[in-house]
Amino acid sequence: MKIAFIGLGNMGGGMAANLANAGHDVRAFDLSEQALATAKEHGCETFSSASEACEGVDAVVSMLPNGEIVKSVYTSDVIGKAPQGAVFLDCSTIDVATAREVAEAAEAAGYAMVDAPVSGGIAAAEAGTLTFMVGGSDEAFAKAKPVLEGMGKAVIHAGQAGNGQAAKICNNMLLAVQMIGTCEAFAMAQQLGLDPQTFYDISSVSSGQCWSMTSYCPVPGVGPKSPADNGYQGGFATGLMLKDLKLAMAAADTAGVDTKMGRRARELYEEFDEKGNGARDFSSIIETLK
Ligand code: NAD
Repeated sequence: MKIAFIGLGNMGGGMAANLANAGHDVRAFDLSEQALATAKEHGCETFSSASEACEGVDAVVSMLPNGEIVKSVYTSDVIGKAPQGAVFLDCSTIDVATAREVAEAAEAAGYAMVDAPVSGGIAAAEAGTLTFMVGGSDEAFAKAKPVLEGMGKAVIHAGQAGNGQAAKICNNMLLAVQMIGTCEAFAMAQQLGLDPQTFYDISSVSSGQCWSMTSYCPVPGVGPKSPADNGYQGGFATGLMLKDLKLAMAAADTAGVDTKMGRRARELYEEFDEKGNGARDFSSIIETLK
């Protein structure tokens, strides 16, 4: 397939490289010259505007920082520039309302569009093992699926346009709450005289067990290897978790749902981020409990 790829940053760079490796003809665009040079090294053809990259393509994939940029790129440079029949896949994490608005504009102009945010970080983007949660019509999903399969290990249809973003922020709100709860449990266990490894051995096979404990333990040296074992470098940055929690709280307000734990998690991550921890892995919030 001929695929335009817009946004070749930490995530998009690896994703575009995987599409090129899978044999697709990838037409890449980013505002950064450095990102374009790297994409070229990875087998992509590079262009000096998004609209040029979209010429003659079967699909357009985007991996951009936020909803405002996604809306502006699609309305100015993609809709009306890509050939009729092309499918659009926005893999960025953005707010549900903007995802729906852009999909509606694309559909009104005769294109199929999905929102397809990802679970998995930079390593999964490079390894092609992302999970995609996809919102859009059955027809749009069917067109998008073969493209997404070139970049991930799981592609799940979540329903109508915007539902991929809804799944992503609900999942990440749960992850934040779960991580803070896990950190509190370890801190309290230790203060009560329990060795962290002993608490892990008990709780990981008891009802408190969760992903933040058994796959991503915030305590160094406990559980499988995680960012805690690497000085909280790499992994999922606190700043990105905060971005997702802000999107989740905006969606909760719009939907009229009183997510008390989600709101508190957002406050705690905001305070932690403001203390200069934005680039550190989100599990390092355990340090506030010491
Ligand atoms: P990034 O900042 O590394 O990359 C974004 C890229 O978009 C940059 O290269 C930038 O130059 C480019 N860009 C910005 N405006 C543009 C425009 N108008 N036209 C073309 N290119 C433009 O960010 P990232 O970490 O790759 O994240 C991208 C998206 O993926 C975000 O929505 C983020 O929330 C989401 N996400 C990130 C991670 C992660 O671990 N980094 C995990 C899951 C989801």
